[in-house]
Amino acid sequence: AEEAVRSDELVFQHDARKHEAQWEISLLTSLDRAIDNGEVWVAYQPKLDLVSNRITGAEALVRWTHPERGPIGPDKFIRIAEEFHRIERITRFVLNDAVRAAVELEREGYEMTMSVNIAAQLLRNPALPGMIAEILAAHGLSPNRLILEITETDRLDRSSKTFQMLQRLVQSGLRLSIDDFGTGNATIDYLRYLPASEVKIDKSFISTMDSSEADLRLVQSIIEMAHSLDRVVVAEGVETLKNLEALTRLGCDLVQGYHISRPVPYRDFLSFVSGRRARLIS
Ligand code: C2E
Ligand code: MG
Ligand code: MG
Ligand code: MG
Repeated sequence: AEEAVRSDELVFQHDARKHEAQWEISLLTSLDRAIDNGEVWVAYQPKLDLVSNRITGAEALVRWTHPERGPIGPDKFIRIAEEFHRIERITRFVLNDAVRAAVELEREGYEMTMSVNIAAQLLRNPALPGMIAEILAAHGLSPNRLILEITETDRLDRSSKTFQMLQRLVQSGLRLSIDDFGTGNATIDYLRYLPASEVKIDKSFISTMDSSEADLRLVQSIIEMAHSLDRVVVAEGVETLKNLEALTRLGCDLVQGYHISRPVPYRDFLSFVSGRRARLIS
């Protein structure tokens, strides 16, 4: 009887895997069309500077609004895009939109940094620096305004291709940011050796610091450690005023989160920024 149960279990696992594979393939097929159809778009989330109390940057976050399935989050399709070699195409699309947005913001009188997430796999693609340079040149944006957010979780080996790539990107004038800091397993190594100018504390630490004294102290030590290495510190996932006030007290440089603004279409980002400026003047 036990044997029968086990084989049932195996059939079930097999079906589940098959189902998942079919779902991934169908997602992939529609992803190929989605970019051409305009279903894929870019949302912008502001970064608030706690010293000047101004929005000094934006993060570009890819969105996919499927005509039948509705919104599909990047957490669902970025991994599949990496696995099936679509990440270069998606990143080119996001970079192009983000760099254009940065230039438009400049024209409106806002000098901001623009952050774009770069998948770990793309850091092993030798075509990356050329692609970025081409997009910057096409729109006329200076490389030091673009921040690449990196979430590589593998151990950092300084002789690796990835490390050489990161150095090359920095030498070309781009800035790097260590995303989701505190998760993964090689984060102290990253802080030490990566030529990054910015560290983003993962939102899992921020969401619990309102209620946990230990997490608050942990965030404090991350900020101190990053500052001692001259890195700019960003807190992501700031959802409450209490969060914002605590981070201000701890000397965090920049914050991002629903309490300030959700990621929104470019038009809404622009009106949010101009509304804030109007409020500051009055
Ligand atoms: P991430 O880069 O760490 O981005 C932060 C995520 O937290 C975003 O989720 C953002 O919408 C969400 N978020 C922002 N503020 C808050 C808050 O106050 N509370 C909570 N609970 N969440 C908040 P999103 O947009 O779903 O993106 C998830 C991840 O997908 C990103 O994490 C990033 O790793 C990846 N991703 C997004 N866009 C791209 C892209 O264009 N290229 C690549 N390679 N990855 C991307
Ligand atoms: Mg990010
Ligand atoms: Mg993050
Ligand atoms: Mg993340």
